[in-house]
Amino acid sequence: MMRRFAALALAGLMTVGLTACGPRLDPDEAQESVRVYAMDTEMVFSVYGQQSVKVALAAEAEMYRLENLLSRTREDSAISKLNAAGGAETPVGAEVCALLLAAETYSWATGGAFDVTLAAVSSAWGFTEDAYRVPPQVELEALLTRTGMDKVQIAADTAALAEGTQIDLGAIAKGYAADRAAALLREYDAPRAMVNLGGNVLAWGNRPDGEAWRVGIQDPAQPMAADAYVGILNLTDAYAVTSGGYQRYFEEAGTTYHHIIDPATGHPAASDLTSVTIVAAAETLAAGETGPGTLCDALSTALFVLGEDRAVEFWRSGAYPFDMVLVTAEGRVVTTPGLVDRLTTVAESGYVYETVS
Ligand code: AMP
Ligand code: MG
Repeated sequence: MMRRFAALALAGLMTVGLTACGPRLDPDEAQESVRVYAMDTEMVFSVYGQQSVKVALAAEAEMYRLENLLSRTREDSAISKLNAAGGAETPVGAEVCALLLAAETYSWATGGAFDVTLAAVSSAWGFTEDAYRVPPQVELEALLTRTGMDKVQIAADTAALAEGTQIDLGAIAKGYAADRAAALLREYDAPRAMVNLGGNVLAWGNRPDGEAWRVGIQDPAQPMAADAYVGILNLTDAYAVTSGGYQRYFEEAGTTYHHIIDPATGHPAASDLTSVTIVAAAETLAAGETGPGTLCDALSTALFVLGEDRAVEFWRSGAYPFDMVLVTAEGRVVTTPGLVDRLTTVAESGYVYETVS
């Protein structure tokens, strides 16, 4: 018998230092925290302001609504209905169509590295059902004939898949949820909040003491250690999302297999990176509109697949406004110039810090 070992590490980003109970500049400023378990992850909302209770409750309801809409493991979700339709045109609603269009855009922009049609491939590796296995190559090759965004037809409020194609929005749904959380914070005029959707972070405003929110980037080499950071991001009105092979993986016969798939091979991406953190500024969003949260989530997954050189090239192209922190397997932390003043390095981490230009 081969021994199988599976792990789910700490979320890639963690709030550091002051959160709920620190000093406040305004003693009247109310604060409310809620923990929500949705989208297969623990979500924490710490919201400040006069309406903090209302926002926190609205955010909780919104997360359940999104899970019911987007989850592929909930039979009655729009995505499950689309996946079960056997190729027929399916009413999924304008919101799901907008998210599918965003997924299509990021797929094109990254040369196919981002691909929400990998559902059946992820399942073959057992990542969806926690039934880990190494699928035979012939099985993967057969599944790969059904993947790619060209197999997805998106209309105003309906979508259709080619027969055998299945959608998994796991790489983008939490980022979209962060966008919806931002829209709620704006609607209720919340002055500050820290939202952490299982490593998809939204730092809204400043901390109560007027400082930027501090968000630690997990050291991918120590995925289970609570205080092992490669750096601390100092963020105000910004999103940050980390993807890494260390976040979910299993071991079989001495080889590690992680959950981020290279759409070109159907195998876990053979990346020279161990994690990718994408940071983007908050924006005003219309109802149902995808924004920087969605962008950060899509790009953190896609640039992990692309690897260091192509990730840097993608950033240099200027196609999207974002900053990033790449952690390489050989022990370097590569940062874009926009983060130099916002990343506190950790001298004892053993990493070598570099800035690209
Ligand atoms: P994330 O944690 O955002 O990096 O997303 C990883 C999840 O997205 C995986 O658990 C899969 O469900 C799915 N996924 C894996 N590989 C890809 C890929 N290349 N493009 C889009 N989604 C992917
Ligand atoms: Mg992602």
